[in-house]
Amino acid sequence: MRLFVAGLGTETNSFADLPTRLADFEHYIMIRPGMAAAEPSEYTALLWAASQPARHREVVAGTFAHACPGGITERATWERLRDEILGQLRAAGPVDAVALAMHGAMMAEGCEDCEGALLESVREIVGPDVPVGVLLDLHCHLTPRMLRSATLIVTFKEYPHTDSVERAEELLALLQDTVAGRIHPRMSVFDCHMIDALHTTREPMRGFMARIRELEQCPDMLSISVIHSFPWGDVPELGAHVLVITDDRPAEGLRVAASLGRELFSFRGRASAPGFSLEDAIDRAAAVAAPPPLVIADTADNPGGGAPGDATYLLSAALARGLQATCLGPLHDPEIVQAAFAAGEGGTLEGRLGGKLGAFSGTPVVFRGKVLALRRSARQTFAGKPAPMGDTAAIRIDGVEVVVTAGRCQALSPELFRVVGIDPAGARVVIVKSSHHFYDGFAPLAREVLYAEPPGLLNPRYLARAYTRLGNRRLWPVHPIDERELEHQEIWQDVLWAADAAPSER
Ligand SMILES: [Zn+2]
Repeated sequence: MRLFVAGLGTETNSFADLPTRLADFEHYIMIRPGMAAAEPSEYTALLWAASQPARHREVVAGTFAHACPGGITERATWERLRDEILGQLRAAGPVDAVALAMHGAMMAEGCEDCEGALLESVREIVGPDVPVGVLLDLHCHLTPRMLRSATLIVTFKEYPHTDSVERAEELLALLQDTVAGRIHPRMSVFDCHMIDALHTTREPMRGFMARIRELEQCPDMLSISVIHSFPWGDVPELGAHVLVITDDRPAEGLRVAASLGRELFSFRGRASAPGFSLEDAIDRAAAVAAPPPLVIADTADNPGGGAPGDATYLLSAALARGLQATCLGPLHDPEIVQAAFAAGEGGTLEGRLGGKLGAFSGTPVVFRGKVLALRRSARQTFAGKPAPMGDTAAIRIDGVEVVVTAGRCQALSPELFRVVGIDPAGARVVIVKSSHHFYDGFAPLAREVLYAEPPGLLNPRYLARAYTRLGNRRLWPVHPIDERELEHQEIWQDVLWAADAAPSER
């Protein structure tokens, strides 16, 4: 199999102030042909998996570009990266299959469905008979345009996304079988009409995903993806879906997708941990007298969801309450990192920390502190893989040790603190900027994990009234929906079966 692989993606927060630019891709993931993907991360897993030696596989690698979640991508950046990949595909000549790694929630100026647009162009180049597979983040929006152009869509199953390599290998194996004529993939979709945080680390989602893995062992059941969608993407297709790929059994696929989709709908409102107000979170923190720490997630200022990462609400509250033995990070403030490097380790630093980048960032914390440690190009890990933080400083302000980063990143693992000499396990309180990806790394050292909802770009209270693109689409919890409304799925099946009809007519 002669296979073309490439990647392009970011998770677009339509409500974020800062646009996503070419530099945001260059600072995050930009692997051009000939450069190796040394270690697989979520969005390079496909390149890594495709690069492993395999019999009967010749790989032509195009560009892999991915940016940290942020605002809408600038038109010139999107068009340049899109055209770069399409040019590489044309230059590759005839291929037997195409595999793309994308996010699924990328929006650019002039294009609100970048994945659908890129897949459509790829389909035009390779023609109707070449299988095109795409690996997506589960926080994607599934659009008719994507379904029409792709042969196979596979998403991550786990949130936190710890299974990217497994899913990449699954997609490649399905493509290989399709090329060999051993399978005839057909996609069936069920629209769950809901938008919710679905943590696969806890029940009911953990058991649900385990049963899905069992179902995938059934004959003709090729792959099942549960699409969570991304609540901060204001797009018409917003919302959770179940996508079932069968070996030429679309009606059976729809039956399974509908059954799983209705069950998923029944989890609404109880598939993630409860949120705490800023005041309640700080009250709980003040009551902790010794390690192990209470771990508090600042879910509203998670750079992994496109927030600026410099909101100061929790830091200000921790300082005002006089919390001791507390560490907090990552707080994104390149200016303060630069000043800390100028002051040096052990130096005293004064300034205004955070609160600068977005409408929901709060006000800067005016501080006088001590620079504890400095690291150039620091890295934390996620599922054992490195994740860049940029130049990083640890600064002690009263009883709070703050990890300040030049790169915009979320908290993924305790290395975030350890890389600058802070032992989070020895703290009373650990405050991290993340919605849920921090969980696997921090839960083992925590007395308790608490999800705080301070003011911030990702605070769910701001969401319901913010959507402008839903049109007639009804979506829990924006609209009150009962199970009977889930029966009306004709539009989707029309799209799918029209697409499915095409191959047999060729
Ligand atoms: Zn995601």
